[in-house]
Amino acid sequence: MGMERSTKSKFLRVKCNDCPNEQVVFDHASTDVNCNVCGAILVKPRGGKPEINAEVIEVLE
Ligand SMILES: [Zn+2]
Repeated sequence: MGMERSTKSKFLRVKCNDCPNEQVVFDHASTDVNCNVCGAILVKPRGGKPEINAEVIEVLE
């Protein structure tokens, strides 16, 4: 156990690029994750390698 860190999904605390909102997102979401305040797309799923369109403040494992 514990040998697959590179593929392990995580929760990230991110700050939106378009507003001051911070929220926790799942980095392997299967659909786009939107900012709860302004609706900007924070995470886009891209075939296993998510594109994070926000500032990652903290990685929560
Ligand atoms: Zn926002």
